[in-house]
Amino acid sequence: MSWCLMAPADEIKAPDAIATRLRKLGLLRVDDLVLHLPIRYEDETRLTPIAEALDGGPVQIEAQVLEVSVQFRPRRQLVARVSDASGELVLRFLNFYGSQTRQLEMARDEGRKLRLFGEIRHGFLGAEMVHPRYRVLASDEVLPQSLTPVYPSAAGLSQSTLRKLIRKALAAATDLSELLDAHWCRKNRLPVFADAVQLLHAPPPGTPEATLQLRTHPAWQRIKFDEVLAQQLSLRRAYMARRKKGAPQLNASGMLARQLLAALPFSLTGAQQRVHAELAADLMQPYPMQRLLQGDVGSGKTILAALAACQAIEAGWQAAFMAPTEILAEQHYFKLRAWLMPLGVEVVWLSGSLKKAAKKAMQAQAATSAQLVVGTHALIQGGVDFARLGLAIVDEQHRFGVAQRLELRRKGGNPHQLMMSATPIPRTLAMSYYADLDVSVLDELPPGRRPIRTKLVSDARRAEVIARVRSAVTAGRQAYWVCPLIEESETLQLQTALETHVALSEELSELRIGLVHGRLKPDEKATTMAAFAAGEIDVLVATTVIEVGVDVPNASLMIIEHAERFGLSQLHQLRGRVGRGVHDSVCVLLFAQPLSETSRARLKIIFENTDGFEIARQDLHLRGPGEFVGSRQSGVPLLRYADLEADADLVVLARAMAEQLLRDDPECVRRHLARWLGSREELLKA
Ligand code: ADP
Ligand code: MG
Repeated sequence: MSWCLMAPADEIKAPDAIATRLRKLGLLRVDDLVLHLPIRYEDETRLTPIAEALDGGPVQIEAQVLEVSVQFRPRRQLVARVSDASGELVLRFLNFYGSQTRQLEMARDEGRKLRLFGEIRHGFLGAEMVHPRYRVLASDEVLPQSLTPVYPSAAGLSQSTLRKLIRKALAAATDLSELLDAHWCRKNRLPVFADAVQLLHAPPPGTPEATLQLRTHPAWQRIKFDEVLAQQLSLRRAYMARRKKGAPQLNASGMLARQLLAALPFSLTGAQQRVHAELAADLMQPYPMQRLLQGDVGSGKTILAALAACQAIEAGWQAAFMAPTEILAEQHYFKLRAWLMPLGVEVVWLSGSLKKAAKKAMQAQAATSAQLVVGTHALIQGGVDFARLGLAIVDEQHRFGVAQRLELRRKGGNPHQLMMSATPIPRTLAMSYYADLDVSVLDELPPGRRPIRTKLVSDARRAEVIARVRSAVTAGRQAYWVCPLIEESETLQLQTALETHVALSEELSELRIGLVHGRLKPDEKATTMAAFAAGEIDVLVATTVIEVGVDVPNASLMIIEHAERFGLSQLHQLRGRVGRGVHDSVCVLLFAQPLSETSRARLKIIFENTDGFEIARQDLHLRGPGEFVGSRQSGVPLLRYADLEADADLVVLARAMAEQLLRDDPECVRRHLARWLGSREELLKA
C-alpha cells in the first residue's frame, strides 16, 4: 500500500472510495489514524488443538484440508473436513462463492494449511465451525505477536484495510513524541503517549483482556486523560481569550438593587445572597462575565438576574433578558416589569406577534432608550442594535444548545453574560462541558416550599385522576394536564393535544379548560397563559411548551400523560411547575402498560427523588453522558474514549494540568490540540 505514506498532520492519502469512508469515521489526517483505537481484540497469537477447543469461545486453529464438498441437504452448503494432530473438524458455509470451493480444493491438493478463527461447537456429528474466518497459509507464516485489533469501521471499509493503514501510520514518521512531563506521567501511573498508543493498537499476548475491554488499562487511562485534557485546553483557552476582551465595568452603588430587594415580599436565601455577590463582583470587572448560574427548578434564579440587571442599569448600561420560548419570555416580562417599573426602569417587551413595522419601532426603542429589553433570543438578536448593552442574560440556556450559546457570544459586542440553567448536571460533567464558563450553583430552595408528592398511576385509572382534578379545582386550585410527547411527529402531538382538550372539556364540562401548544400564535399563547395566571382557566391542557420557567403559584396539580415517553430532566422540569405556592402539590405521572425495564427504572428515579442534581446523576448513570448533554447534536466534539462518570478523577487532573499548560507552555498546548482536535478545533472557537 504505497498510497498511504505520510507525515503526521498530512491528509491520509488513499483512493477516493476509501478516503470517503475514512472521512465518515472522522479520519482525515494521519494523526487521526493513530488515535483511532480498537473497540475490541481477537487473540490470534495462540493456536488451540481441535480436541482441546471448548464450546462457545472463539478459538484459532490450524488444520489440513482433508475433504471438500458441496452438499444439498438440508440446503446448499459448502462443507470441508479438516484436521490437526489432535482431531477432526467440520467447516460449514451456508453462503459461499464458487471461488471459495476452488480455493479450499487447491489447499487440499497442495497440502497447504488453513488458519481458522471462529467458535467451535461439538455437535452430534463431532466438532464443527459455521462460517469461520479463514486464510490459506503460505508455508512460512508465523503467528502474530500481538492481539488483533478490531476497529470501529464503516460499510465498505474492511478491518484489514484499516489495520494496514493504522500500522503504517504508527510506523511512519508520525509524531508520537511525549508532550507531557514524563516525570508527572510516572507519578500518576500513566504510560508515555507512544507506549500507550502502540500498546492499544497491538497489545502483547497476556494483556489482561478485561482491562482492555473496560478501558481501565493504564494505556487507556493515558489516552482518556489526553482526550479530556484536549477538551479542557480548548474550552479554557476560549474562556481566556474572551477574558482578554474588554467589557464595561458596571460600577454601581447598589442603590437600585437595594430598592428592588426592599420591595420584594421575601428575602433572599443564603444561596441567593452568595450568588448575588458573585455576580455583582463579576460585573465590576473590566472583562466580560461568562457565568452559568445553575439552580434547580424553583430555586429563584429570576430575581438574581433582575438584581444583576439593576447593577447594569444603575451604571448607565442596558440589559437584555432572553428566554427560549415566547411564553416564558412574556412571563419574565410581566414579572420584571412589576418589579422594576415602580423603580422607574424602562422595561421593553419585544413580542414576536407584532407586525413588521411595529416590530421595527419596538426594536428601535429597545436599541436606544430602553434599560431592560425582554424577549426570545431570536427577537433580540434579530435586529436590535443596542446603544449600550452591558449585560446579556440567557434563561434556560440548555435549551439553546452549545452552537447557539457560542453564537450568542460572538454577537453583540462584549457584554457581560449570565446564562441560567435549571438542568442541573453533576459537578464533573459541569467541569467538563462548561469548562469555558464560571459556574455558580444555587443549592437551596426558598423556604416554605411544600414538597410535591409524586404519584405513578397506570392510565387504566384515568377516571380517578379526572376526579382528582375536579376536586382540586373545587378547592380553588388549578391544574396542568400535559399531553404526551410524540417525538416523531409534531402534527401528531398537536392532534393529541386537541383531542385531549376536547375530551377533558366533556369529562369536566363544569370547569374552564384552556389549551396551549406550540402552533398557537404568540399572542394567542400569551392570552391563554395570562388567563391561566389570572385564575380564569381551571385546567390548562398543554404540550411541553410549558416545560420551562412558567410560574403560576395557584396551580397545584400536574398530570403528565404517557410519562414514560419523557426524559427525566423534562419530567423534573414539568413537575417543577407546581409546588410554587403555599398549597400542597401533587404530580401524577400517568403511564401506559406494559412498561419496559428502562422506563420502569426511569420512572422510579423521578418518583423517588425531588433533588434535580440527584435525578441528573442517576439519569447520567442510566444513559451515559453523551446523550445526556445532547452534545452529539450541538457540535462539540464528543469524547470518544473518556466516560465522564467513570473517569471523573481524570477530569479533575486534566483541569489542573490545562491551567498549568496554558500558563506556562503554549507550544505544548498547540501541539496537544493539533494532535487531538486537528481541524475540529475551529468548531470550538468562540
Ligand atoms: P427558577 O429558578 O426556576 O427560575 P424562579 O425565579 O421562577 O425560579 O422562582 C420561583 C418562585 O420563587 C418565584 O415565584 C419567585 O418569586 C419565588 N422566590 C424566589 N426567591 C425566593 C425567596 N428567597 N423566598 C421566597 N420565594 C422566592
Ligand atoms: Mg426560571
